[in-house]
Amino acid sequence: MDKKYVIALDQGTTSSRAVLIDRQGRMVDCVQRSYQQIYPQPGWVEHNPQEILLSQLGALTELVSRHSLSYENVSAIGIDNQRETTMVWDPTTGEPIANAIVWQCRRTAGMVEELCGSPETRAMIQAKTGLLPDAYFSASKIRWLLENVDGARERAEAGELVFGTVDTWLLWVLSGGLVHATDVTNASRTMLYNIHEGHWDQVLLDLFDIPAQMMPQVLPSASVFGETSYPGIPAGIPLAGVAGDQQAALFGQCCFEAGQAKSTYGTGCFLLMHTGATPAVSENNLVTTIVASPPNVGHTEYALEGSVFVAGALIQWLRDGLGLLRSAEETEWMARSVPDTGGVYIVPAFTGLGAPYWKSDARGLIYGLTRGTTTEHIARAALEALAYQCHDLVRAMEADSRVALQALKVDGGASRNDFLLQFQADVLRRPICRPRNIETTSLGAAYLAGLTSGFWSGTEELRALDASGAEFLPQMDPKRAEGLLDGWRGAICRCM
Ligand code: ADP
Repeated sequence: MDKKYVIALDQGTTSSRAVLIDRQGRMVDCVQRSYQQIYPQPGWVEHNPQEILLSQLGALTELVSRHSLSYENVSAIGIDNQRETTMVWDPTTGEPIANAIVWQCRRTAGMVEELCGSPETRAMIQAKTGLLPDAYFSASKIRWLLENVDGARERAEAGELVFGTVDTWLLWVLSGGLVHATDVTNASRTMLYNIHEGHWDQVLLDLFDIPAQMMPQVLPSASVFGETSYPGIPAGIPLAGVAGDQQAALFGQCCFEAGQAKSTYGTGCFLLMHTGATPAVSENNLVTTIVASPPNVGHTEYALEGSVFVAGALIQWLRDGLGLLRSAEETEWMARSVPDTGGVYIVPAFTGLGAPYWKSDARGLIYGLTRGTTTEHIARAALEALAYQCHDLVRAMEADSRVALQALKVDGGASRNDFLLQFQADVLRRPICRPRNIETTSLGAAYLAGLTSGFWSGTEELRALDASGAEFLPQMDPKRAEGLLDGWRGAICRCM
């Protein structure tokens, strides 16, 4: 049967999208619905699970009716989701016991410190899960719900409650309550999954006092999780791919092998580098995580992950905080209007320095000002700062994994800036590739589902679809690049 489309459900932190993708990997249409962010106290963030459903299924049904989608023309559905966000529900009634605790929520920071603060426990958790203990991850959020919702612990122990990340919730609802499962990438962000042995880890479940029967079944990202069985949605379509958003983006960028990496330049910057079948252990505060693999790989594959806290947010600050710009885009011609920054460096450590420096009490600086410094120099220094920070993360990843980066794939809002990407290529001394479609998360979910269902023949076909982007090759004299990096290291030292 010649099916025409794959659907990606892109469940993000602020909105849910249903995306229709054709055989050429083109985005045919996209329906987006935002939903409410709930802030019950300073530092707390929640989502209402029913609103997540309403927005996600609303977007899907709208897409279905716009294009008369059916079992006959849709090959599969893939899901990518905000990671770590935690919910607990009663599978007999379908009722969540409370709002979802969102990844950003800091309510369990004290609990994590108390349970995981000792050097031995931290080392044990890092060895088993690849993660550095933090309130981000699902483990402490589940415990919080069991401790703070009336009767939850008793019900969980009696086997009456289940846990899921957002993918699990969507799978469960879309399959008519038949499937309680997650994929390896989402499991690897719970801080309860042993990423080497491939199972929920009893020692960690005990540490957080979580009954094992609450946990979903864990499947490879490219597998048939179930099929659709929900009113208003065509029945019997395979739910055939699931991955957390960053891993989905890596897959959508066709980074299938060791040494391939992607960087998402948004408000912050998220970098993932594929390290193949070997889980690299970081000495630079990076986390080790499982990647989404194509079907039938037969073994687990890993990545190193790191983030820059302030990337596009620096450009926003120049625009909204200092009033130096009218728009983020104009940094491009401003930067090009001067031959260099005139010796100016900006270290945007607004909330401290992240990996590989890890100094939370550091604060930002603008260094090297002279009487000749202009707005254009500052704008250029800001874009260069994004590239330097990303450079430092990549070098840390190469050192930790002993794998050399081949090329860096980029996406996110600031990846539209050609000056930034050229400068990135110049300091990294590697090709930078921007795909035609920078919506790489939904593309990744679609690719996973479409490979599993046989819509696409294999990764070679996907690579061929990916070919027509923009490529930026290193052009700068290596000595000049090294000199600039020396200046950046000097600015970092002053900042620390
Ligand atoms: P997020 O998903 O994190 O909200 P986006 O991927 O939408 O972010 O990217 C928006 C960010 O990128 C903003 O911080 C903005 O300042 C920056 N940005 C957008 N366009 C450009 C550009 N042409 N040059 C530099 N920065 C840009």
